[in-house]
Amino acid sequence: MAKLLLLLALAVIVAMWWFGKGRSRPPAATGRPDAAAGPQAMVSCAQCGMHLPASESVEGEGGRRYCCAEHRRVGPAR
Ligand SMILES: [Zn+2]
Repeated sequence: MAKLLLLLALAVIVAMWWFGKGRSRPPAATGRPDAAAGPQAMVSCAQCGMHLPASESVEGEGGRRYCCAEHRRVGPAR
């Protein structure tokens, strides 16, 4: 009986190791664990050049991207 329990425990450990390996593989392939959250397009502010996600940027004239409304008001850097 004890041998059966030991075998069962071993099977659980192997299963956990197997599923753990399968889960950790995609992030390891990209080299970045946070890449699993999904690719996010990065844009740079036309005023100060700061990089930020496209979803957080403010769109200005001519499709230019800014980091904030203030920089959109100032306009692109010359
Ligand atoms: Zn800016």
